[in-house]
Amino acid sequence: MNFDFTEEQKLFAESVRRFAETNLKKDSLPRAHNPRFPLDVAKLMSQQGLMGITIPEADGGQGGALMDAVIAIEQVAAACPRSADVVQFGNFGPIRTFAEYGTDYQKKRWLEPCLKGQAVMSLGMSEPDAGSAVTDLKTSAKPDGNGYILNGTKVFSTFSPDAIVFLVYVRYGPGVGGIGSVLVERETPGFTIGPPQEFMSGEQWSELHFDNCRIPTENVLLGPGGFKKQMASFNVERLGNTARSLALGRYCYDRAREHANVRQQFGRPLAEFQGLQWKFADMAIKLESAQLLLYRAAANADKGLPSAYETAVAKAACNQAGFEIAHEAIQIMGAAGYSKSSLVEYCMRRCRGWMIAGGSIEMLKNRIAEHVLDRRFDQRPPKPKASEAAE
Ligand SMILES: Cc1cc2nc3c(=O)[nH]c(=O)nc-3n(C[C@H](O)[C@H](O)[C@H](O)COP(=O)(O)OP(=O)(O)OC[C@H]3O[C@@H](n4cnc5c(N)ncnc54)[C@H](O)[C@@H]3O)c2cc1C
Repeated sequence: MNFDFTEEQKLFAESVRRFAETNLKKDSLPRAHNPRFPLDVAKLMSQQGLMGITIPEADGGQGGALMDAVIAIEQVAAACPRSADVVQFGNFGPIRTFAEYGTDYQKKRWLEPCLKGQAVMSLGMSEPDAGSAVTDLKTSAKPDGNGYILNGTKVFSTFSPDAIVFLVYVRYGPGVGGIGSVLVERETPGFTIGPPQEFMSGEQWSELHFDNCRIPTENVLLGPGGFKKQMASFNVERLGNTARSLALGRYCYDRAREHANVRQQFGRPLAEFQGLQWKFADMAIKLESAQLLLYRAAANADKGLPSAYETAVAKAACNQAGFEIAHEAIQIMGAAGYSKSSLVEYCMRRCRGWMIAGGSIEMLKNRIAEHVLDRRFDQRPPKPKASEAAE
């Protein structure tokens, strides 16, 4: 067992750090408060080889390992927390499911511009009545000649105000086996995108409405029975949220450390008060332990898809650690940390969202408990027995 990065990983981390310090650090504050997807950053990252790190070279990616993409998130976030979203988009988001299962036609049309930093894609999974219970989704795809007709509504899709194409989970038929996914372009007739709404983090999302929206058969990504494949790829997306949570937590930890060493009260640096020293010790324990779980999940996935259990453990630990550390950093920094002129309060708001998005902490704990106890716990109410139903 080796807990060190390889020489290659160290060099890669160093080069990403230099890139981020040089190109992203300067505008990190206004960028965090701009709700639009930073396409300028995506273009720079594409030139730097940071988009599609784990996507095969034949598809326009770098053919690297998931661990490299995690390293990229960490190094970018250390200079500009908001820009870590671009690493997420280019390596972990719906783009990864798309690269895994898309046809040559689909990849040429949509993957290429995304990897070049010219366009962004959004994931339409959640619905008004299907959040954690995602398999309750109702958005339907009914065959119609050489295409499908879509009807339904999606909510909370990240980047939806800016996306040119949407990866939409749909229902072709009843049950989990009836679920698959399609690609819908922004300008498609019958597809309307509501006005932007705002999360606590300042990120925007729009409702997506499909009203007899017709798409050609070439836009089908996964047909009926595709749900399991979608969820396996979704574990990659989860690892991106996991890595961002911890990276933003570390950003806050670093700012709080700097602050505590410099800020003087009662004639001595804050760092000399034991009440704050123990906060730093607790933060370090949370950071280090969560990071090991993150690295285990990413390293074991190698170039394939990560294990659902290891991802769930890592995500729950990093989501909690990231938020708690950001929260504590504000306390250590006082009004300076609470102020919008520092990025610490921004990081706290972002970390809060990842405790809900991409599998809430409670749903992850359900998954972990099933693994530990080696049985499945149906979350739905028991069906009435035939005798009770007859009464
Ligand atoms: C920042 C952010 C970005 C997002 N981006 C996207 C996106 O790009 N695309 C997209 O489709 N969706 C997105 N979402 C939506 C996200 O997928 C849902 O918020 C998530 O699935 C939870 O659904 P819900 O919010 O409807 O909560 P609900 O499912 O209503 O849950 C409410 C609470 O009950 C708990 N709960 C529910 N069921 C159980 C259970 N069985 N056991 C224990 N506790 C339970 C939940 O953990 C939660 O605490 C995003 C959300 C956020 C916050």
